[in-house]
Amino acid sequence: MTSYTREAIGGLAVAVVGCGALGSEAARLLGLLGLGTVLLIDPDRVEATNLIHSPYLRSKNSLGRHKAEVLAENLAAHFPDTHWQTLACEIADVGFQRLRRCALLLSCTDNTLARVETGYAAHRLRLPMMDAGLKGRAVWSGRVAWLPGGRAACYLCQLGEARRAELLSFSLSAAQSCSAPLHTDQPLPSTPTMASIVAALQVDLGLRLALTPSELTEQAYAWELSLPLPETSWHSFTIRPSADCPWHSSEDSSDMVILPMDQPLNESLAQQSAQTENQPASLELDWPLCVKARCNRCRHLWSPMLRLAVLRRRGVCPACGESSLSAIETLARVTIGDSFAHLTPRQLGLPPDHLFTIARSL
Ligand SMILES: [Zn+2]
Ligand SMILES: [Zn+2]
Repeated sequence: MTSYTREAIGGLAVAVVGCGALGSEAARLLGLLGLGTVLLIDPDRVEATNLIHSPYLRSKNSLGRHKAEVLAENLAAHFPDTHWQTLACEIADVGFQRLRRCALLLSCTDNTLARVETGYAAHRLRLPMMDAGLKGRAVWSGRVAWLPGGRAACYLCQLGEARRAELLSFSLSAAQSCSAPLHTDQPLPSTPTMASIVAALQVDLGLRLALTPSELTEQAYAWELSLPLPETSWHSFTIRPSADCPWHSSEDSSDMVILPMDQPLNESLAQQSAQTENQPASLELDWPLCVKARCNRCRHLWSPMLRLAVLRRRGVCPACGESSLSAIETLARVTIGDSFAHLTPRQLGLPPDHLFTIARSL
């Protein structure tokens, strides 16, 4: 059993998902504590507003560069003993081999979809996740939640049924027009002091729970902090697993395997099935790909080969530039005879360094 000592912390790897006001504070604290490795994950680039909110995103020529890279450079100058790694992509595009050695995933993003995607990685890899969120300037409040994985409540469990359905259908189901707007969070300007307080709670409680396993750490908890004057409050409560959360619905018997990125999937699947007395193996995609889309303006049809959530948020028609699109066909699973099985994982845009989910039918 590990414990909360300097030596234990020096041997740990932690991932920080989101490098804005909250994530850059959490990363700074991990540096101060002497973490062994910190993996910084954020697809966004530094904009002028970030320069005001985070000193660690501010440096010569940082505008327009990836936040994760600027943050790593600046923090490495202060904390050279920590190994700073960066991935300038969305959490849903991070290969699980990059995450599996982490002791903890810190979720520091300001959008719920990215939190669901972080929660999914935590769920698949059985890693604990410490989620943190801020409310805006007028509210002075924040929340952190310990989601240890296993049988405990996961990120999805704590969302209401309607919100869960909305988020999952946005990412998973083609039965929604791409133009239907997701009920998105309204990122509010946070105060640097609240970011600092909430990030400190996230890092401190998260590391203590991750390093001292006990009965206590097998349950999911949330802590809510509210600091409007003069009535300040601090609540902690248990989060119960939700009976209809899809991530707890059945015992998972699939394997997670490394597949060659440049070998056609039909060859990889044949090898996988040969390893288990020719039980047919299929690749289950973590997030479905849109393989055929139609423009709602000019009716152009094409193969975007993008994750459905990416198409819905950022897809545009290659013929006319329209963003109102319909997903006509999606791909969630590949079997040997499928029309896409001659493609390689790289051609399908699947993440490098991944652990792919292989299901076997009896
Ligand atoms: Zn759940
Ligand atoms: Zn078009």
